[in-house]
Amino acid sequence: MQKSLKRKRDDNDELRPGGLYLDTIRRTYLDFDFEKVCSISLSNLNVYACLVCGKYYQGRGTTSHAYIHSLHEDHHVFINLHTLKAYILPDGYEVNDSSLDDIKYVIKPTFTKEQIKLLDKNNNYCYDLNNKKYLPGFIGLNNIKKNDYINVIIQALIHITPLRDFFLRNDKESKSELVNRFGMLIRKMWNSRAFKAQVSPHELLQEISNASKKKFLLTEQNDPVDFLYWFLNTLHFALGGTRKKKSIIQETFQGKLQIESQTILAEPEEGKEKFQKTDFESDREVTKVVSPFMVLVLDLPPPPLFQDEMEQNIIPQVSLSSLLCRYDGKTIQEIGNTLKRYKLLKLPNYLIFNAKRFNKNNWSQEKNPTIINFPIKNVDMKEYLDTDPNDKEEYKYDLVANICHEGKDSPKNGSYKVQVYCKGKDQWFQIQDLFVEEIMPQMIFLSETYIQIWERKFSEESK
Ligand SMILES: [Zn+2]
Repeated sequence: MQKSLKRKRDDNDELRPGGLYLDTIRRTYLDFDFEKVCSISLSNLNVYACLVCGKYYQGRGTTSHAYIHSLHEDHHVFINLHTLKAYILPDGYEVNDSSLDDIKYVIKPTFTKEQIKLLDKNNNYCYDLNNKKYLPGFIGLNNIKKNDYINVIIQALIHITPLRDFFLRNDKESKSELVNRFGMLIRKMWNSRAFKAQVSPHELLQEISNASKKKFLLTEQNDPVDFLYWFLNTLHFALGGTRKKKSIIQETFQGKLQIESQTILAEPEEGKEKFQKTDFESDREVTKVVSPFMVLVLDLPPPPLFQDEMEQNIIPQVSLSSLLCRYDGKTIQEIGNTLKRYKLLKLPNYLIFNAKRFNKNNWSQEKNPTIINFPIKNVDMKEYLDTDPNDKEEYKYDLVANICHEGKDSPKNGSYKVQVYCKGKDQWFQIQDLFVEEIMPQMIFLSETYIQIWERKFSEESK
């Protein structure tokens, strides 16, 4: 056995090292989305993929799992998943053949500055090994069990241009495994030379579970808003940000908010009607706090409690601008026994809204089904911003991602889908796990939106 293999190799060496063996590679069996651990020892050190059957094995020495696999199965081409060096086993020599480049690229996609610049202009579909058509950046993510609440956040974030570009540019290994795995997933999702038109987020999900101390699992539905707060915060610190030093996360999403508050002194006597307070009491102290924010909460008006039969099928609606009034620096809100007034001091380039759809009381959780009406382009935020009257700057925003909840009562029930905008095609896509479809913009308004991300418009010159 050994002998015949040796002879084969020698014959081939003259033409092309490993040549015959390279023809045994089966690309459709290859999947590099799973945790890089040996299928036998479960070790993550020195792991090779067998390019014939796709399985992972440790080592290539004469007692290693990869070596034994090559003898048992007659599979001979292996690639080190870390160094991307390919070897013929059991002989043990390295092959450096350009026909392996596509495989190396699928394991670790990389992007040049020029390629990154063109991503938002691309409207060309690509084809995977099964001839399935896909648009890079608009591809499905597996729902392994109950991780759709994470999938929608990933899908939204990979379309935030500065954040995406940061991770595409910085492909060197970081000390943080969360950063490494999120970056790798972004590069795979934007890969135009993918073997299959879907990506499994498995490796990132494992690390999210580790890093969150099992708070965010792939086996248990959770609230994407809670996950988003945790993810952005954890990434900020993992990328070297501190309380004072900004990271790409804060540069992209962080704004500043002023909160004024005053305690309400006396409650009206029982039986007397409570009147709506419209301003602070001028003779008492008002506390002023300036606070950074990454998510702006939008309070939905309570849905009508009792509806007659005729109205039962009418879904309550509200306009985005009436929800944003909360931040106009004039409107006073009564929260518990405090009056509050909010004003935006600084707007980020990417604004995240969270429509507060779920209300918890002592007994149960309820979902507010109110539909929000909004224009998808040119939402003017200037009136909510504390600016100099001479400030000529425009603060207009376009919607880029919209996450919706389907189901009842609790954010931990039901399912999530996301709608994302493709600039290159001027087209909206709806993505629910593996299912990707083009949709008309009108479809966006029919959904129970839960999280939105808006992008500030800049004129071409100021870019
Ligand atoms: Zn094999």
